[in-house]
Amino acid sequence: MQQILSSPLTINGLELKNRMVMSPMHVMYTPWGRVNDRLVAFYRRRALGGVAMMVVVCAFDEYSGGPGMPDLRLDGAVSEFKVLTQAVQKAGARISAQLYHAGRYAHSAFLQKQAIAPSAVASRFTRETPREMTNDDIQKTIASFAAGAAKAKEAGFDAVEILGSAGYLICQFLSPLTNQRTDEYGGDLDHRMRFGCDVVRAVRQAVGPDFPVGIRIAGHDFMDGGHTNHEARIFAQAVENAGVDLINVTGGWHETKVPQTTMDLPRGGFTYLARGIKEVVQVPVIACNRINTPELAEEVLRQGFADLIGPGRPLLADPDFPLKAVSGRSDEIALCLACNQACFDHILSLQPVGCLVNPQAGFESEIQIEPTAEPKRVLVVGGGPAGMEAALVLASRGHKVQLIEQATRLGGQIPLAAAPPGREEFLSLATSLDNRLTKTEVKVELARRVTADVVKAIDPEIVVVATGAKPIQPDIPGVDGPGVVQAWDILAGRITPGELGRRVLILGGGAVGSETALFLAKYGAMTGEELLFLLENGAETADAVRPFFNSGAKQLTIVEMLPKIGRDIGLTNRWIVLQNLERKGVALRTKCRVTAITPTGVQVDRDGTAEFIPGDSVVLALGSRSDNALADEIKALGYVTHVIGDAQAPRKATDAIKDAFDLGRTL
Ligand code: SF4
Repeated sequence: MQQILSSPLTINGLELKNRMVMSPMHVMYTPWGRVNDRLVAFYRRRALGGVAMMVVVCAFDEYSGGPGMPDLRLDGAVSEFKVLTQAVQKAGARISAQLYHAGRYAHSAFLQKQAIAPSAVASRFTRETPREMTNDDIQKTIASFAAGAAKAKEAGFDAVEILGSAGYLICQFLSPLTNQRTDEYGGDLDHRMRFGCDVVRAVRQAVGPDFPVGIRIAGHDFMDGGHTNHEARIFAQAVENAGVDLINVTGGWHETKVPQTTMDLPRGGFTYLARGIKEVVQVPVIACNRINTPELAEEVLRQGFADLIGPGRPLLADPDFPLKAVSGRSDEIALCLACNQACFDHILSLQPVGCLVNPQAGFESEIQIEPTAEPKRVLVVGGGPAGMEAALVLASRGHKVQLIEQATRLGGQIPLAAAPPGREEFLSLATSLDNRLTKTEVKVELARRVTADVVKAIDPEIVVVATGAKPIQPDIPGVDGPGVVQAWDILAGRITPGELGRRVLILGGGAVGSETALFLAKYGAMTGEELLFLLENGAETADAVRPFFNSGAKQLTIVEMLPKIGRDIGLTNRWIVLQNLERKGVALRTKCRVTAITPTGVQVDRDGTAEFIPGDSVVLALGSRSDNALADEIKALGYVTHVIGDAQAPRKATDAIKDAFDLGRTL
């Protein structure tokens, strides 16, 4: 069957060679707003990977508010942007400039003045209150959008995209939550749409009729009292009438309590938003959010819910996603996990964007994988993410690699990370690394324990120890008693929730403890299938059954020594974990140092006061320590030995893979 994904599409005279358009991403590679080698190399690499068009976020106005974003306003910007546009075009892709205006999402610290917005409504995102725009501000901003578009065209961009999604300025005019104006730009929906439509008309006039103009809109704000897909459809028709050629549909606002970018959102979970828009407009529509495989992308197109798909992070993870997708090599793709560990979490801490599965992302101009001049026989001990990544990189450079794993499968701790609800996407990390390994010459052996004797028998030139970590067994009285188990044993399925008592105390409120609590909360709770049956047949309402899917058979308490839960969880995931813990009724006892474990609960010291927390079972989630005893034995034998990943120091998966990549490219 002819693949739609690989078929061309023409948008207002601009031919796109396939149906993949890289979504705009705030990458933080341009600290002073100037296009630089890093930015050019990043996008050029994606162009070489076969994407049809990429959308680059650009500041264009004194109130745009994008820290670390290339800025069209700066002196000499046109010639600097030309370096970027020409590099991308020469590499075979089209390039569009997204005109970014954050409105009340801009931080005053970055603007060096108060942000502006339709009304002075405080933002949960910035925790600041903007200044209400005067009519003069509005007209100037519309003119500024037009000037930005003209500049982009002059700089060689093939198209422009107006940012009208995620709660940014145009959304702020659209929503009654943030637009309380009484002039012609406020009031009913027609008036609230006026600013967005005026911007489209002004941009169209600035670039002329034959230049593609797109807009990115929120398919649903996911804000209480805000817009749904119903209003988004009306706005989509209005901007189509105002002159856009393309509508890029994404999810909700940055302030929403509905997860937008994490793996909690099922694959393709927001496609229905694009579908809603596609039903009412004639111009092409792009579907976004969590479309991370070519198969899913093809299905979305085949179902007729969109004309294009807009992968952003999937191209950070694997720039060659498009080439692999259209040449039937999707099993070679390093899939984006929606983990946010090195991308969105970095943005929130104002660091340049990277990628857990692709340590080269953002370093395309600095880091190259070169063939080795001296191929070596390398033994990699341990088949977790670090061991697999090291083996892949070493083999790609020409080393002769043997990887031995003591378990019967590769993946190390990945299945544990993937066990909690909404974390299943982590399994694709193991699958993806495994698939890529099978295409190499790496000799993989499973179910074999490596000892010093095994190393001597193999006699490699280099040993890479990637043996991971083990959970900490704390020195607390009663820790060896009945009813005390390790969280890892639960997540690995060695102990089932049914084997635990009704009242479960989880010691440790870091990522493992929190996610183990969510895993246990699922036990006995209504399943998605049961819920669907009841809703589909009108047997119950969602509100009536909410208590049954929110909580299960266990009464759960997290006992944490620090004042905060989830201290080691990235910012984009932490609020979701905390929200879920609350929703599931998990009790949180912070600032509690456990002094003893008894058969009926735990004794704690809370700010110098002794307290007792009753419970029937105790789950230990108190961290892990490196499991690297083998390394010392091998070193003592005189082998060149490198220790990587958690075996060096337990950290996040992104650090383990980075270690492995850095070792692999330099050995
Ligand atoms: Fe995807 Fe995670 Fe990489 Fe971000 S860091 S692009 S979410 S795999």
